Amino acid sequence: MGGIVQVVCTGTADEIDAFVGAIVLRKPVMARIEGVTREIIGTTIFHDFSIGQSSAEEDEIALVPADIAVCGDCLAEFYDPDNPRYLHPFISCTNCGPRFSIMERLPYDRNTTTMDDFQMCEFCMNEYTDPESRRYHAQTISCHGCGPQPIADFRNNGGVLALKGGGGYYLVCSPFDEAAVQKLREIKKREQKPFAVMFRDVEQVREYCSVSEQEEAALVSPQRPIVLLDPLNDKRAADCRPCKSRGVWKNYASNFPTAGIRSRRFRKAAKRSKKAPVGRIWRSWNGATKKL
Ligand SMILES: [Zn+2]
Ligand SMILES: [Zn+2]
Repeated sequence: MGGIVQVVCTGTADEIDAFVGAIVLRKPVMARIEGVTREIIGTTIFHDFSIGQSSAEEDEIALVPADIAVCGDCLAEFYDPDNPRYLHPFISCTNCGPRFSIMERLPYDRNTTTMDDFQMCEFCMNEYTDPESRRYHAQTISCHGCGPQPIADFRNNGGVLALKGGGGYYLVCSPFDEAAVQKLREIKKREQKPFAVMFRDVEQVREYCSVSEQEEAALVSPQRPIVLLDPLNDKRAADCRPCKSRGVWKNYASNFPTAGIRSRRFRKAAKRSKKAPVGRIWRSWNGATKKL
């Protein structure tokens, strides 16, 4: 992940051509291959596949990997009561999960992230070491039996929640609660600037904003960017307090949950109120930077 990947294989010229072609064609969803160079070295006969130790010295063009939104496969497990990672807030795989926000140094490996503090359980270790598993060498692998666990949420008078996630603390509040938004502005020292609102999915964001095809594509992309949207011209959209700035309604900025922990908040909110849960403001909090 990031930088140069050195692959050593043995075979006939045709077999190696096919192998290199397959790497390019069938690369992981988030992988980006800038170029492939090949050289012939002494022949070694391999009987299996293994991943060697990363070396910082060889990785002179190391790229800093970005966080990736929770993928469809992980979300399916997240919502499956029969899955061992059912509702696990830190569910992830090789195609998704935090990277940058948990990294302490390059190259990106388990022992260079905050995950180094958590010893894998047998279940996770079996997946981590199984080349057939989609969590083979997934550095963020964890489950309910190991890895970080969510600590108790606490709520202050203003209705702002502080949550501890894999990359530090987050402050969460309802954009419809004026006192909570005011409290968040005080904590974040952000008097005027509108906050982005996180919605559960496109269906929900359409209740408040108009969303073009292009905007939808950006919203659901793995990078989950914040997208500026035009609010609908009705009272419901107007009640979304944080979009208000100096009495003028600004555009909404919106994105979707990027991690299981965020999806879980939406689910909890849905259980608490009979109505469908509505958007949340979700801000990282530098006031408490200690990572898990
Ligand atoms: Zn995943
Ligand atoms: Zn585990």
